[in-house]
Amino acid sequence: MLKKMWLHFKLITKHKWIVFRLCSKVGLIWRGLVHDLSKYSPTEFFESSKYYVGYKSPIQVARQERVYSAAWLHHKGRNKHHEEYWYDFNAPVKAPVIPYKYTVEMLCDNLAAGIVYKGKDFTNDYPLWYWKNIKNKDVFHPKMVEFFDDVFEEISKNGIDAVLKKEILKEKYNKYCS
Ligand SMILES: [Zn+2]
Repeated sequence: MLKKMWLHFKLITKHKWIVFRLCSKVGLIWRGLVHDLSKYSPTEFFESSKYYVGYKSPIQVARQERVYSAAWLHHKGRNKHHEEYWYDFNAPVKAPVIPYKYTVEMLCDNLAAGIVYKGKDFTNDYPLWYWKNIKNKDVFHPKMVEFFDDVFEEISKNGIDAVLKKEILKEKYNKYCS
């Protein structure tokens, strides 16, 4: 267990560092600093260490092993960069448009997750592939789907550095989401 705790600590800290670098590129330094801090809380840290595998999220493993992940329920209730935070079954619009800063933090989170889990095998196409094939679009407002379609398409063509610019992301967000 101690070894898994150490490996999990290294993984989440590496992920956090990459999110910080990506967020800083677009001026969202505070979002980068506070990103995923709740992963260091006991509820999230101990469960995720227990189900650490290294190549995918321990939350997926926990869901399989124990039906639900308490770490995930804790995490999504506190972190606005997750679409699930905003989703409300009882609201007239179940999946609202998410404010700009959290949308961009979400983007940086997705890119960082791909970079950390794929390692050397990461390519600019990977975030688009993940978005198209794995992400559940029902949890997103249609405007947000259009925004991410555009952003991930452009990243697959031109790379992260070309797209992760304040002006470009603001322009795309205003185009689709306002
Ligand atoms: Zn998170």
